[in-house]
Amino acid sequence: MKVLKFGGTSVGSVENMSHVKNIINDGQKKIVVLSAMSGTTNQLVSIAQDIADEKSDEALNKISKLNESYLLTVDSLLQDSTLNHSVKEYVSSVFDFLKGCAKKDFSQALENQIVAQGELLSTYMFNSYLNQEGIASALLPALDFMRIDENKEPNIEFIKENIGAVLKENAGAEIYITQGFICLDDNDEVSNLQRGGSDFTATIIGAAVLAEEVQIWTDISGMHNNDPRYVENTNPISNLSFDEAAELAYFGAKILHPLSIRPAKLADIPVRLKNTMEPAAEGTLI
Ligand code: ADP
Ligand code: ASP
Ligand code: MG
Repeated sequence: MKVLKFGGTSVGSVENMSHVKNIINDGQKKIVVLSAMSGTTNQLVSIAQDIADEKSDEALNKISKLNESYLLTVDSLLQDSTLNHSVKEYVSSVFDFLKGCAKKDFSQALENQIVAQGELLSTYMFNSYLNQEGIASALLPALDFMRIDENKEPNIEFIKENIGAVLKENAGAEIYITQGFICLDDNDEVSNLQRGGSDFTATIIGAAVLAEEVQIWTDISGMHNNDPRYVENTNPISNLSFDEAAELAYFGAKILHPLSIRPAKLADIPVRLKNTMEPAAEGTLI
């Protein structure tokens, strides 16, 4: 089985979600890890910051604006009225939860709950979209199996056992959708794998299920020889060793979470970097 991760831009618009659907709908069983829609986690972090600063009106204002934009996305994504209705109910429950958070005292646990909502929203919406399109997909809640230990390291034994169980329970599905980034900690509290952590989720799951390959689908065709945000005329690198990729990620190549290569290296699983908007481009094989 392959594990495919799609980042924020890849699920950041209805058009891009349809590209993701086309990429994953090839008749092969797979696990699909999704980030939050682009911009959402930044918004959630800023809402949490407003709560920390005791600016609950500003937090509520941002929550309302974000809520509006999600309702518009649901309307353009889901024409099926039953699915449209049930997803709007889910979206409302998330935003009611966030409004409740705005009235609470700030804590790290509260921030972790707030920033987890982006991936919960994107996966719920995308899974319903696949169902609308007649694709046999199942939503696997990451909080049922993704766990970090007291040192904030992935608890691979726990993850192996529990993802195995949820996969078995959903054996009829062709495509499994789950949330990147979020996890439980050793006290069963909602936590996360740090910003950009969906890449890490993908390689952890890859190692847990001994995937044949992990694919990281993003908005650029592979690892470039320089950071394209600051350097002109950069070029994609077609092959990298685990150590070379880990070093580039560690020194700030944002395309990969700094820890994400480790589980793949340990389990010897190839990682492919691909562009959702240009699937024919070769990308990078690690
Ligand atoms: P996603 O939301 O899909 O996880 P990210 O924004 O986290 O995407 O990572 C992709 C971005 O990483 C690219 O758009 C690019 O701007 C940036 N980036 C930084 N360094 C590199 C590099 N060496 N090669 C490719 N992309 C890089
Ligand atoms: N949504 C999270 C972030 O923006 C995780 C990720 O995209 O990988 O950092
Ligand atoms: Mg990223």
